[in-house]
Amino acid sequence: MNEPVDNGAATPPPVVIIGAGPAGLTAAYMLVERYGIRSTILESDSVVGGISRTVERDGWRFDIGGHRFFTKVREVEALWHEILPDEDFMLRPRMSRIYYNGKYYDYPLKASNALRNLGLWEAALCVASYTWARINPPKDQTTLEGWIVSRFGWRLYRHFFKTYNEKLWGVPVNKLPADFAAQRIKNLSLYNAVMNALLPKRNQKAITSLIEEFQYPKHGPGMMWERARDLVEAKGCTVVMNTRVVGIRTEHGKAVSVTGQAKDGTRTEFPCSHIISSMPMNQLVPAISPPAAAPASKAAADLRYRDFLTVALVVPEKYSFPDNWIYVHSKDVQVGRIQNFGSWSPYMVKEGRTCLGLEFFVFEGDETWNKPDAELIEQGKRELGILNLVDPSKVEAGYVVRMPKAYPFYDEHYKVNVARIVEWLHVHASNVYPVGRNGDAHGGEHRAGHAARRMERERRRGISRRGREAAGRRRAARDARHRARCAGDSATPLRARPPGQQAGQDRLTRRSARSATRTSSSAARGAGSSRRSWRGAPPQRKLPVELARIPRRWTSENRWSR
Ligand SMILES: Cc1cc2nc3c(=O)[nH]c(=O)nc-3n(C[C@H](O)[C@H](O)[C@H](O)COP(=O)(O)OP(=O)(O)OC[C@H]3O[C@@H](n4cnc5c(N)ncnc54)[C@H](O)[C@@H]3O)c2cc1C
Repeated sequence: MNEPVDNGAATPPPVVIIGAGPAGLTAAYMLVERYGIRSTILESDSVVGGISRTVERDGWRFDIGGHRFFTKVREVEALWHEILPDEDFMLRPRMSRIYYNGKYYDYPLKASNALRNLGLWEAALCVASYTWARINPPKDQTTLEGWIVSRFGWRLYRHFFKTYNEKLWGVPVNKLPADFAAQRIKNLSLYNAVMNALLPKRNQKAITSLIEEFQYPKHGPGMMWERARDLVEAKGCTVVMNTRVVGIRTEHGKAVSVTGQAKDGTRTEFPCSHIISSMPMNQLVPAISPPAAAPASKAAADLRYRDFLTVALVVPEKYSFPDNWIYVHSKDVQVGRIQNFGSWSPYMVKEGRTCLGLEFFVFEGDETWNKPDAELIEQGKRELGILNLVDPSKVEAGYVVRMPKAYPFYDEHYKVNVARIVEWLHVHASNVYPVGRNGDAHGGEHRAGHAARRMERERRRGISRRGREAAGRRRAARDARHRARCAGDSATPLRARPPGQQAGQDRLTRRSARSATRTSSSAARGAGSSRRSWRGAPPQRKLPVELARIPRRWTSENRWSR
């Protein structure tokens, strides 16, 4: 194990990490544990864990979203167990059902249950509709609707996908790009679902949405991040809570300091050598000064998010159900999914009671988001009654937790916008590395890996101050050369680029145009394909060091499913 470097006067200013969520804390942990590099972590909230926090109110614990710890990546699994002792993990059965038309459908699909609920006639119509869709697949499979119909047929799409996806994203399914499927239900098809229903014992780990069990920290996912915080603090890192990053000052194409603002408005400047940022990109770009030119700032402003709120209702245990959650496909209620926190872990609830988390997918500032808590709790009770799950008069207590920016909105501009921002950062703030859910799919962590390796190299070689300064000058000269090559780069619309840049950028422009009409197979490759296909961007440095991979893999959207 490496000993932390002494960040004394002779050493450069520390690495600043923005956000104490999974990506930020993992980066801090890996830097200090593997490379001996201490960092300062600035977190705007009063709790760590980001979206993967455990919220605690009056002794009840809520998981905002229900976080299954399931991964096919061995290093990630090993890291979880390195951070949290084995005895704090439980192996939990996965169970979930779909509520549709007054009936509960097992999910993953079970042939007998689906047949019983649908009835023979409707089941036959679904098979006919599926066969028809195979013969006559929808012409436009670049939309989520086309993607699903081609794999399930129109009838099943209307029964099981349309309403839920519209609740989830707040947009008609035929207006959503197929990328949404790539993020969530990528290997799933009717064939797979039926095979799974008929052969339940086969290895289902190939399809993440069908896994049968998962690991879970006994006090919820936040336990992992509270422990990560304790570990990094013990190694000399500083975690500064309640401090929102509001500014990043750059000089000569590099960030030199970060401004954090406390809840009382006090501002503090933190000098930095590198910044690893897990804050939303649409807030990162405007925080940087001098301000970004139009293409980058427009790309940042164009990134959208879907927000989320949970109404947690305490009910007597007799109303408990074995599911981790129930998807509510019914149009009669607004709730999209209902968690049973007692089914995730008995440590989340109290003796004789359970707590149900009703999830509402919203846009921050919309009518539902702005409703007073008491009104949301009443709505939650009413909807539990409509669904025949709980007698509303038996609800004993209620809490509301709002979670802004829960889901990045993978619309048709998402990849291009992220690529544009990354390109701009590369030139104007080349030591800022966006990572995690709010990072770029590949570049961020590769760049974070690059930073870590560079820091580590310098430390190992024991580079003297003069040596470091000389290296800094060399880097500055190289970056200046790069900037000169990209002259006018982000400040100029793509069409107006200098001839040297035109070809690559034209490809980007063509690609953005193509993205509206790309095939489902390329869309299904998801955000991860952006590095491969985005040839107009500066080449991403491919550095497969473990630090580079962990934040993305842990936070990668396609490791989990709804
Ligand atoms: C409903 C739902 C269910 C999910 N289920 C699973 C699952 O089963 N398994 C799984 O692996 N993943 C799951 N996820 C995904 C997982 O929650 C995220 O991928 C993960 O939390 C992302 O971590 P992050 O550190 O990148 O970002 P975040 O968790 O968003 O953390 C970012 C942190 O940065 C802080 N921050 C933001 N702006 C600033 C600022 N200006 N200054 C300082 N700090 C700032 C935030 O407060 C936050 O703490 C789920 C997500 C949702 C919404």
